[in-house]
This record gives sequence, C-alpha cells and structure tokens, in this order.
Amino acid sequence: MDFDLSEEHQMIREMSWEFAKEVIAPRSEEMERTGEYPYDIIDQMAGLGMMGIPFPEEYGGSGGDWVGMHVCIEGISRGDMTLGALLDVTTSVTAQELYVFGTEEQKKKWLKPMAEGKEIGAFGLTEPDAGSDAGSLRTTAVLKGDEWILDGTKQFITNIGLRNASVLLAAAVTEKKKGGKNTISTFIVPKDVPGFQLGTRYDKMAWLASATHEVIMEGCRIPKVNMLGDPSHGFAQHLAVLETGRISIAAMAVGGAQACLDEALRYSGERTQFRKPLFAFQTIQFKLADMAVAIELARNQYLKAAWLKDQGRKHTFEAAAAKLFASEMFEKVASDALQIHGGYGYMNEYPVSRLYKSAKLLQIVEGTSEVQRMVIGRHLAP
Ligand SMILES: Cc1cc2nc3c(=O)[nH]c(=O)nc-3n(C[C@H](O)[C@H](O)[C@H](O)COP(=O)(O)OP(=O)(O)OC[C@H]3O[C@@H](n4cnc5c(N)ncnc54)[C@H](O)[C@@H]3O)c2cc1C
Repeated sequence: MDFDLSEEHQMIREMSWEFAKEVIAPRSEEMERTGEYPYDIIDQMAGLGMMGIPFPEEYGGSGGDWVGMHVCIEGISRGDMTLGALLDVTTSVTAQELYVFGTEEQKKKWLKPMAEGKEIGAFGLTEPDAGSDAGSLRTTAVLKGDEWILDGTKQFITNIGLRNASVLLAAAVTEKKKGGKNTISTFIVPKDVPGFQLGTRYDKMAWLASATHEVIMEGCRIPKVNMLGDPSHGFAQHLAVLETGRISIAAMAVGGAQACLDEALRYSGERTQFRKPLFAFQTIQFKLADMAVAIELARNQYLKAAWLKDQGRKHTFEAAAAKLFASEMFEKVASDALQIHGGYGYMNEYPVSRLYKSAKLLQIVEGTSEVQRMVIGRHLAP
C-alpha cells in the first residue's frame, strides 16, 4: 500500500495551492462583495491546464487522472470556493459526461474547448419540482424532423450566467410512460439557440461570484445530433458523472476547511488575551487538533474514492462517504474557526466569516447529506 502522492500529483498540489495563495485568495473578498466573476483568473487557470487534467491531449486535456484533478480542486478551493466549483461543474461533471458518452464529433466540438478552459461547463438536472427526486423532472424533448424541441425550466444552474459558458447539458423526458419510469435523455443545448433564455440570477447567501441562474426553455430548438449518449439512459449518464461530482465536492470541502484551519492557526498565534496568545490555551489547541484530524480523514477519503475511479473500480460508497463526511466536517470546522476569532470572525473582512457562510452549500449541492445517507443505506442493505 502506497500513501504517497506521485511526483506529478505533488506538482499539481504545489502548483494549485501556490496559485490559490498568490492569485485567488487576495481577490476572494472582492469577488464575494461585488459578485463579479474573475475572468482573468479563469484564463490563467486554463493556461495552467487545470480544466483538462483527466482528459487525453487529443481532447484538449493533459493526460492526467482523477486523483490529480481532485488534488487541484482542493488547492484551488483553499483560495476560493467558487473557483473550486467552477472546476467541479466544468471538468468533473459536464466535460466528463461529454468525454464518456459523446461521439467523436461531439468531443471535438464541445469537450475540447472545455478541457482547454476556453469554455465553461454547465449542468442542468434540477427543476422547480424535481430536486432530490431528480428523476421526476418535467422538461420534455420532442423530435421534429432534424431538430429536438425542448420545453421546461431548469433551476439553480451554476456557471450558466458566465459569458464563456455557452452550453448546458440538460436532461429531458423523451418518452412518458404511464405507471412506469419516463425515458430521460441528455442534450447538448447551446445558449444561443432560439427558445433558450436565462431567467433570474439568484441572490444567494454566499458564493456570490458564482453566477447561478434559472434557465427557461420554450420551444427551444437544437439539432438532432445534439443528443448525448444513449437515448434511454440520459438520467443514468447524469447520475454517473454526479458520482465523480461527489468526490469533487469532498475535495472542495477539504480545501475550504484547510483554509479555515490556516486562518485559525494564524489568528490564534497573533491574538493575545490574559497575556497569552490564544494558541497557548488548551481549549483552543484541542479545537485546532480536532480540526486538523477531521480534515486529514476527509482528505484521505476523497483521495481513496478518486484512486478507485482511476483504477476503474466501483466507488459508489466511497464517493458518497467522502461527500457526506467532508461537507459536514467543513461546516463544523468553519464554525470552530470562526469561534476562535471571537467577534472579529463575525466581521465580513475576515475570511472565516465568508468560509462559514460558504460551507453550508456543500451539504446541499449534488445530492444533499440525506441523499448521500440514502445511497450509503442502499449499499449497506442486507
Ligand atoms: C447554489 C446552488 C447551485 C446549484 N447548482 C446546480 C447545477 O449546476 N445543476 C443542477 O442541476 N442543480 C444545481 N443545484 C441544485 C441542487 O443540486 C439541489 O438544490 C439539491 O439536489 C436539493 O434539491 P432541492 O433544493 O430541490 O431540495 P429538496 O429535494 O426539495 O429537499 C429538501 C430537503 O428534504 C430532504 N429530502 C428530500 N427527499 C428526501 C427523502 N427521500 N428522505 C429524506 N430527506 C429528503 C433533502 O435532503 C433536503 O434536506 C444547485 C443548488 C444550489 C443551491
């Protein structure tokens, strides 16, 4: 058994963390305050090859693997959560679905620019009446001649509001079945087709620079060739890549929690009360020790899940366990880090206040904690 990161993974760890520390973290407060997306930072991330790590070079990737991708997601999230989310949604979910299920032509046209970071991915599953019960989605797709006509509304769609996100992978019902499960297919929907409209940009409690929108498709017409993969397994395709998304959310949570620990360690060394630095009090040190242990365990679990994926082995339990444990750990670590900052931690100028607000989301997106427990429960069923 080898717990060491390879030389390549080590390089990705150092490169992503260095970039997050030098370029991203200094802009994180401004991004949250203004809600402005840092296109220049995305260009630099693209230049460093971050969006295409696990894909072959012929499709714009760098021929790496999923362990490397997730080490990168952790490093970037340590600088800012929304940029970790950009990697998750673009690479782990959207680009991966194009890579695994796309035709050669679709990969050249849609995957390559995404893996190169010229295009940002967006993934459309959730609808107003279909969240955790995603299979009950109502968007329909009907074939008319050489075009699919899509009608429906997608909700809470990450990235789609960015100017370099020009395509949505949307799941839609292609055959309604009385008393049985509807047939769901996946479609590559460009943003500039007739009938595609961006709805409200949501006003969120955190992650303000991440442009989350409603998407309205009314008589939305796309070419017949834009169906992705097996017409009768579109839902299963979406779920398959969301399994990787769970590992990515876990890596993001570890990055965010590590940032909390960084801040809490720094502050507890600087702040003096009762004529001693806070770090000298055992109560504070115990909190920091618990934080470090929880982060390390969560890190090991996401790395294990990513490693299993790279080996082509089943990892449903490991990915759900990684997401559940890491996202709940992050909320607790963020709360403890804020507590160590006392009243200052509640002030917006301190990064821990932003991290505390950010942490909650990871227990909700890409399958809530309850859904992860359902997945794990199914795995345990005798
Ligand atoms: C900022 C943000 C970005 C997002 N980005 C995307 C995106 O890019 N693409 C996309 O498709 N979706 C996206 N989502 C949607 C996200 O994945 C859903 O919000 C999530 O899956 C939960 O669905 P819901 O909000 O409808 O909650 P609901 O499904 O209504 O759940 C409400 C509560 O009930 C619980 N619950 C539901 N069913 C059960 C059950 N059977 N047993 C026990 N408890 C249950 C849930 O765990 C939750 O606590 C995003 C959401 C947010 C907030």
